[in-house]
Amino acid sequence: MNSFVCKRLAHSAAAGVRSHQFVVCGGGTGGLAVASSLARRFGKDKVAVIEPSDVHYYQPMWTMVGAGIKTLEQSRRPMADVMPQNAAWYKTAVTEFEPSKSAVHTQDGTTIKYDYLIVGLGLKVDFDRIKGLTEALEMPSSGVSSNYSSDSVTKTYEYLNSFKGGEAIFTFPPLPIKCPGAPQKIMYLAEELFKRNNVRDKTRITYNSAIGVIFGVKKYANELLKVISRKGIDVNFQHNLVEIIPERKEAIFEVLKEGHEGERKTFSFDFMHATPPMGPLDVIKESPLADGAGWLDVNPQTMQHKKFENVFGIGDCTNVPTSKTAAACAAESAVLKKNLFKVMKGQNPDSEYDGYTSCPLVTGYNTCILAEFDYTGTPLETFPFDQGKERQTMYYLKADILPEVYWHGLIKGLWGGPKPFRKAMKLGLSK
Ligand SMILES: Cc1cc2nc3c(=O)[nH]c(=O)nc-3n(C[C@H](O)[C@H](O)[C@H](O)COP(=O)(O)OP(=O)(O)OC[C@H]3O[C@@H](n4cnc5c(N)ncnc54)[C@H](O)[C@@H]3O)c2cc1C
Repeated sequence: MNSFVCKRLAHSAAAGVRSHQFVVCGGGTGGLAVASSLARRFGKDKVAVIEPSDVHYYQPMWTMVGAGIKTLEQSRRPMADVMPQNAAWYKTAVTEFEPSKSAVHTQDGTTIKYDYLIVGLGLKVDFDRIKGLTEALEMPSSGVSSNYSSDSVTKTYEYLNSFKGGEAIFTFPPLPIKCPGAPQKIMYLAEELFKRNNVRDKTRITYNSAIGVIFGVKKYANELLKVISRKGIDVNFQHNLVEIIPERKEAIFEVLKEGHEGERKTFSFDFMHATPPMGPLDVIKESPLADGAGWLDVNPQTMQHKKFENVFGIGDCTNVPTSKTAAACAAESAVLKKNLFKVMKGQNPDSEYDGYTSCPLVTGYNTCILAEFDYTGTPLETFPFDQGKERQTMYYLKADILPEVYWHGLIKGLWGGPKPFRKAMKLGLSK
């Protein structure tokens, strides 16, 4: 009997009340990074992972899938293959947190008690908050796609590669979103593809962003503005997508600029890449673990919950004020594990997360700016050269090396971010 079947049987036997030393909610990037380490260290069935999905996606690859560089299959693994061998997998969803009783309740009626809880549920990608977007994504030949879902990411390349010219619009919603670089990376790749396909001179590319800057860190924003100017892209800041009328190929944006209250503008499009707004999942929002906005309320330095000492959080579901990325999950996982072990010994959790996050800003089919920075927006670059410049080496790092680091390092709990390399490369002089 293979391990997948064993795990499925273990799950179907689950009901009533169970308990584990560690319960990890979510088998995504952050959840697996922590669960894998704990399962290795503490042995069989000490760790439970609650995760309803059959498959695990390496979402950072979806930019490359949308551009036809990688396939969706390359970004996907069966969940059974990435689940830590020693962990008990509950293939169901968390429906309620009851931290005062150190218990979580699941969709299949099981109550799972824990000594320590790690929450890594990700966030809600809210397609329905834009009127007409879901319909547009489902409608054949609507010209609307989004790299933010496994259901629509392959449409991006289909539309881009068959584009005959016209209006191509790329949108960016209000923050926070995961990987805030992704909405513009696909635009730079599209521009190059249009050139290759001889339709660039028949195409206007427009970037409509709800926020007022191209990127949150000035050093990288300055370089990206040069890329935008070189590629001849029109940018409208503080333009927030509110509605798509797919049958008319029109999109309505509200103008968020001061003095323009209530103003709406209609744009016609032939292709649109839409990035939907994102927010906290209801299961966290409605729980005692949430902050006022609905995110998991953790200490941004220690990743420990602010009220419940035996609860930790990781990744997109938390309220740590950094850019939500897989790279952030890596650095957070290293700090979280150290602090968890300290709490287990009755010590102070004093290991500190500096907000490290990274965004490989792909600017073409062989160029990339590797942005890396901390909570304060100060660059924290790994390599001993200026990463603000577009480089071919950083493109190959993004396309070929980081996926391997993800599958064999990060989700195995063996990669806590590049800090040791950064220090070594800078002869110990870097943070
Ligand atoms: C298009 C795109 C491009 C990106 N590019 C990059 C990049 O270049 N670099 C980078 O570092 N990051 C990038 N990211 C962001 C990165 O993928 C995420 O930040 C990261 O995966 C977050 O990990 P997580 O564990 O917080 O959430 P996820 O990996 O989303 O995992 C959450 C898990 O929780 C599960 N879950 C949800 N609800 C429940 C429930 N009720 N009960 C149990 N389980 C539940 C889900 O099924 C999922 O498996 C990109 C993302 C996208 C979409």
